[in-house]
Amino acid sequence: MMNGNYSTIVIGAGSAGLTVAIGLAQRGKRVALIENNAVGGDCTNVGCIPSKTLIHEVAERNGHGDGAAILATVQRKRNHLRDEETEMVERMEHLDLIRGAARFVGPREVEVALHTGGTQRIGAPNIVIATGSRPRMIEIKGLPRERILTNESLFELERAPRHLAVIGSGPIGLEMAFAFRKLGSRVSVIAKDERVFNAGTPATSEALAASLAERGIDVYLRAKPTGYNHAFERLSLDVDGQPVTLDEVDYVLIAIGRTRNVDRLDLERAGVRYDPQQGIEVDGSYRTSVPGIYAIGDVTPASKWTHSAGAQGRTVVQRILLPWLPVSGSSTLYPNATFSDPEVANVGLLPDEIAKRYHPGLVKTLRVELRDTDKGYTDGLQRGFIEVSALRLSGRVLGATIVGPRASEMISFWTLAISQGISLYKLFRLVYPYPTLSGGNQKIADQFVRETLPNIGAEMRDVARYGLATIWWRLRGAEPAAVDDTAAHPLAAQTTYNG
Ligand SMILES: Cc1cc2nc3c(=O)[nH]c(=O)nc-3n(C[C@H](O)[C@H](O)[C@H](O)COP(=O)(O)OP(=O)(O)OC[C@H]3O[C@@H](n4cnc5c(N)ncnc54)[C@H](O)[C@@H]3O)c2cc1C
Repeated sequence: MMNGNYSTIVIGAGSAGLTVAIGLAQRGKRVALIENNAVGGDCTNVGCIPSKTLIHEVAERNGHGDGAAILATVQRKRNHLRDEETEMVERMEHLDLIRGAARFVGPREVEVALHTGGTQRIGAPNIVIATGSRPRMIEIKGLPRERILTNESLFELERAPRHLAVIGSGPIGLEMAFAFRKLGSRVSVIAKDERVFNAGTPATSEALAASLAERGIDVYLRAKPTGYNHAFERLSLDVDGQPVTLDEVDYVLIAIGRTRNVDRLDLERAGVRYDPQQGIEVDGSYRTSVPGIYAIGDVTPASKWTHSAGAQGRTVVQRILLPWLPVSGSSTLYPNATFSDPEVANVGLLPDEIAKRYHPGLVKTLRVELRDTDKGYTDGLQRGFIEVSALRLSGRVLGATIVGPRASEMISFWTLAISQGISLYKLFRLVYPYPTLSGGNQKIADQFVRETLPNIGAEMRDVARYGLATIWWRLRGAEPAAVDDTAAHPLAAQTTYNG
């Protein structure tokens, strides 16, 4: 093991921390990477990888197959990847993996409570905090510990629950509700909101609600758990003020959101500003309030996914290696995907965010039902759509939502359009293979051009009128507020990756 003279200390070996540690070590910088648990963090061990393996395995078997064998496959594939990642990190030149819990003792120094016993103090000019998040918990009276599941224990199950109650209807809750239903469990979803997947558009919630019902998943809205009777395996709910009981519930999955890991770091001793709920305050280059200390990934308000953690990590690598190089704005445009059935993906601004920024007369919303594409017809698609909001006249894309098969793959098309400012007029000229669901993008551009060009005079008049109204509103300080550029699309900060 190398001693001292580190260029950078990275706390946390998850998606964010690994990106920085590996990125710097590959360029010859000496890095100390401190990890208190398993290398790979949440994504590899208790998040994306086991959840997506499970979703894949149940889809492959199309509702058949042995639940215990599928869960064993999930663990085997997860463990294999974790072992590979660990070995790669352990062998990497210029990188020391230190196993233990880190806390600050000053702005340039941390102390590690080593797994092997004792403590070690190390210092460096750069420190990157990448300590992630953990599941937010609620207490349910009478529910014993062994019946409670979170994403940290879910993938250790050896058999599918008989009746899984999922508290929360965000991405994690819904992904797991569909997966465990296909694994053979009875599944009930309990959500406090008016609709499932409350962070998405109402049309998205509608499509997911229809699919949940079709799969035989019971959904209780405006509902909360009130207690559990262990002897009878009975979960009591308050549903819109009415008592309801669910029988034979052997496990309860809590998926109601995330708590950022800021509390055990002694951030005060370094002077790093943070909010216990929102996480560590950072600027556009992920610098904290203390020069030389960065924060990235789930521990900040600006990230909730692996890809955003990775993008932030790459920015910090650039900041440390080439501090004079400007940070690219388009790397803050984070698409997101939920691997429910159907999949949901979106990028850019959601309709309610657009309404706060633009006069409604300036925006066109275009929508194509996937069943109206020829590929949707050949595949017998019942539901799913592409919905795009764009500025009238200029055709600049503001946001896109896709619900349907492989929405997670299809969304990148719109990420490119938004980040590069490619207007719908340009996309109108693009040719797609036939028949494909992405051919639906062509229908979106067709719709825009069809509605805009023949009425160009009226369009110009309207845009001038609503543009003036927007300027007037802004001068008076009323909504719609500042019209932002693509670099500042704040979707990641407003859409939660949580239950
Ligand atoms: C069930 C589930 C499914 C998900 N699916 C997806 C998906 O499909 N796509 C997607 O993009 N995102 C997904 N996510 C989100 C994704 O997992 C996280 O956004 C990502 O892992 C965050 O990475 P991170 O590096 O910020 O934090 P983490 O991965 O949590 O890593 C933080 C690391 O820091 C360590 N640590 C904490 N405190 C200390 C300390 N004091 N000292 C030393 N080490 C410390 C922890 O042990 C941990 O290993 C999912 C999350 C969950 C829970």
